[in-house]
Amino acid sequence: MMKSDVLVIGSNMIDLITYIDRMPVEGETVEAPDFQMGFGGKGANQAVAAARLGSKVSFISMVGNDSFGKQQLANFKSNSIDTTGVGVGSKSSGAAPIFVDPTSDNRILIIKGANNELTPAVLDNYIDLIQNTKIVVLQQEIPLETNYHAIDLANEFKIPVLLNPAPANKELDINHVSKVDFFSPNETELSTLTGMPTSNLDEIKRAASRMVTMGVKNIIVTLGSKGVLWVNNTNSELIPAIKVKAVDTTGAGDSFIGSFAHYYAQGEDIPVALKHANQYAAVTVTRKGTQKSYPTATELLSLTN
Ligand code: ATP
Repeated sequence: MMKSDVLVIGSNMIDLITYIDRMPVEGETVEAPDFQMGFGGKGANQAVAAARLGSKVSFISMVGNDSFGKQQLANFKSNSIDTTGVGVGSKSSGAAPIFVDPTSDNRILIIKGANNELTPAVLDNYIDLIQNTKIVVLQQEIPLETNYHAIDLANEFKIPVLLNPAPANKELDINHVSKVDFFSPNETELSTLTGMPTSNLDEIKRAASRMVTMGVKNIIVTLGSKGVLWVNNTNSELIPAIKVKAVDTTGAGDSFIGSFAHYYAQGEDIPVALKHANQYAAVTVTRKGTQKSYPTATELLSLTN
């Protein structure tokens, strides 16, 4: 039986990043100066972060029946992620064409593809993975019903659940949110869910406290270069970010979630795990790329000493 430290249930996507001088108009073909492919998807990113830090990570996900799917599987394996729970769907692999202009503004399309085939019924094939982990990590690039089922199953086996409600979805049912141990939105996602303003720290604290009254045990709001706010029944604490020169913040949120899950699974107390995750995410913003920017435990030591 496979035992893991961290079980991620979620998405995988191939990022197709095209660097453009300008967007073509209708009917026009324009040459673009550069192109890069990258492994992404919030689930995959979080799984890779935890695995690079040394956690035993299992992943439940669906790739497409195409060459991207094969590349995704190879990438999971090269990051030592257990792929017992990775299925091959009938749709194309999830993909994200991203257009980046010279001012670094971007336009992103998301094709969820096989990620939508990760239905609640698929989870029933992997009950042993859910039962034999220290924490289940969820995001919102797979059907909401699948997350609800994952929460119910994890609750049944008393396994802690971390839900990162990204991208924001107004439909998210608060009855299920109240059953998770860690709920980790950014300011925008917190505002979408509570319908409350979150434009300054006081407003964010108020919205987070509202969620606690709704039954959520721990709210962890990621605040970019300001760090992270942790609110529960007895505590409200701002853990400041580490001061660094940021060059690329893409995937910082995922590195934070994946590394927090790792440190929590290693038995760290919540505030200590949050401090370490702040440190990990800060390093990733000083490096270019998404998964490419996530250091291993050994690299992290050399980068922070
Ligand atoms: P996404 O990566 O999708 O934008 P997000 O909005 O949840 O996700 P952020 O809140 O921007 O992510 O960042 C997550 C964490 O990364 C922060 O809580 C912080 O720990 C770290 N971080 C982000 N930006 C910086 C920065 N400029 N300097 C130091 N740490 C940062």
